[in-house]
Amino acid sequence: MRLNNKITLITGAGSGIGRCTALRFAAEGATVVVADLNKEAADETVALLTEAGGPGYAIRCDVTDPGSAQAMASEALDKFGRIDVLFNNAGISGVGALHELEPDAWDRVMNVNIRGTFLPSKYVLPSMMERRSGAIINMSSCIAEIGLARRASYAATKGAVLALTKSMQVDYAEYGIRVNALLPGTILTPFVEKYLQESYSDPEEALAGIRKRQLSGDLGRPEDVAEGALFLASDESKFMMGSPLYIDGGVVFG
Ligand code: NAD
Repeated sequence: MRLNNKITLITGAGSGIGRCTALRFAAEGATVVVADLNKEAADETVALLTEAGGPGYAIRCDVTDPGSAQAMASEALDKFGRIDVLFNNAGISGVGALHELEPDAWDRVMNVNIRGTFLPSKYVLPSMMERRSGAIINMSSCIAEIGLARRASYAATKGAVLALTKSMQVDYAEYGIRVNALLPGTILTPFVEKYLQESYSDPEEALAGIRKRQLSGDLGRPEDVAEGALFLASDESKFMMGSPLYIDGGVVFG
C-alpha cells in the first residue's frame, strides 16, 4: 500500500476533494485526521472511513484561527505521535471583480485560503523538522495561472499559495520535507455548485460554458484530484519539490 502506516492530516476534509482524498488515503493504508470547521461534516467523513475499514479521527478546526490550528496540530500529535503528511485543502470561493468586492469579503477569502495554509503548516512543521521527514500538499488552483472573470480575490489567494509553496520548499528542503501544490481545474463539488448558484442566473448554461473551456470537454471529479494528492503524499513523488501538479482537464495549456 502506498501510504502504509502514514499519519495524514487533511484540512477541509468534511466535504468535496478533502473527503474524497481522506477515503483514498485510507484505502492506501493511511490513518487520516479529518479536520474541518464543520465538526458534523468531519464526523461524517470519519463514519465513511470507518465503513470502508480505514482508521480516521475528526477534529474541529478553524484554519484561520491560530489557537484552533495549534490545538489541531497538538491533538493530532498527542494522539498519533507524528504527522507524516499535511494536506492544506480547506478553502472558500470569492466572487466578484476587484471594484465590486467589499474589504470584509476580500479579507475572508484571504484568511481562509492563505492564512489557513500558513497556520496549520506553522504548527505542524516543527514536528516534521524534528523528525527530518514529511510531505506538505498545498491546495492552489489553475486560476493561479489563468485569468477567469470575477474571481479576483480567489485568484489572488491561489497565486499566493503557489508562491508560498515554493518558498516553503526552499526553507524546509534541508529537513527532508517536501512541499508541493495541487492546481485543479473545475471539479464538481459542493464548492462549485454553490459558486454557480450564487454567480449565474442560469447555472446550467454557465456549467456548459465551463465544459467548453476544458480540453477534456468535461469537469473533473474529486477522485481525479485525490489521485494527485495521493501521488504527492507518497514516496513515489520523492523527486518533486516545490512543484505545481496540474489536474485541470487541459484548461491551463489548452
Ligand atoms: P468544499 O466546499 O466541498 O470543501 C471545503 C471544506 O473546507 C468544507 O468542508 C468547509 O467546511 C471547509 N472549510 C471552510 N472554511 C474552513 C475553515 N476556516 N477552517 C477549516 N475548514 C474550513 O470545496 P472543494 O471543492 O472540495 O475545495 C477544496 C479545496 O480545493 C479548496 O481550497 C478549493 O479552493 C480548492 N479547489 C477547488 C476546485 C473546484 O473546482 N472544486 C478547483 C481548484 C481548487
